[in-house]
Amino acid sequence: MTRLVLLGPPGAGKGTQAVRICEARGLQHLSTGELLRAAVEAGTELGVEARVFMDAGNLVPDQLVSDLVAERLRALGDDSGFLLDGFPRNVGQAASLAEQPRGALDCVLYLRLEREEILQRLLARGRSDDTEAVINNRLDVYARETSPLVEHYEEQGLLKTIDGLGTMDEVASRIKDALRDCGAEASA
Ligand code: AMP
Repeated sequence: MTRLVLLGPPGAGKGTQAVRICEARGLQHLSTGELLRAAVEAGTELGVEARVFMDAGNLVPDQLVSDLVAERLRALGDDSGFLLDGFPRNVGQAASLAEQPRGALDCVLYLRLEREEILQRLLARGRSDDTEAVINNRLDVYARETSPLVEHYEEQGLLKTIDGLGTMDEVASRIKDALRDCGAEASA
C-alpha cells in the first residue's frame, strides 16, 4: 500500500498531478482544499468556520483540518493507499498525521517552483481566492508555515524534490521517476 504526501506552494500544479498519480496507481486522492471547499458549499458547520480563513488565504485552524483528515483516513479501507494533497501544511499537522494509525508515509513528493512563476500561474487561474492580495498572503503563509516541512521531511529521509517548471507531462514524468526511487512504484 502506498502512502504519499504531495507538498509544494499553491499554484505548483499539485491538484492536477495528484489526480494523475492517483489514477495511475489506484490511490485515494485526499485534498484538504477540495474537502474544505465542498464543506463551504454545503454550508456545514466546518464550512462556515473554515470560510473566513480561506477567503483571506490563511490556514484553517489545525484541529479542524487534522480532524477532517483523520476521519477520511479512518474511512479508507485498511489496504487502500492514498495521496494527501495540501496536507500537512505545517509542522503541527505533520505531527498529527504521524500519530494516525495510517500516518506512516512512504514518500513526500515536493513540487518546487519559484515565487515569481507561482504568482503568474495563480493570477491566470482565477479561482475566487485567487485575487492578488489573497495570493500574496497565501504565498507568505506558505513560506512561513509550510516550507519548513521541506526540511522536516528531508530529515526523515522521505523527501523527493521535483522541479515543477515545465509542461504537465514533463512534471508527471519526473514524479514517476521519483516514485520509482522511493520504492512506491509497484504497489497500487
Ligand atoms: P488549496 O486548495 O490546497 O490551495 O487550499 C485552499 C485553502 O484551504 C487554503 O488557502 C487554506 O485556507 C485551506 N486549507 C487547505 N488545506 C489546508 C490545511 N492542510 N490546513 C489549513 N488550511 C488548509
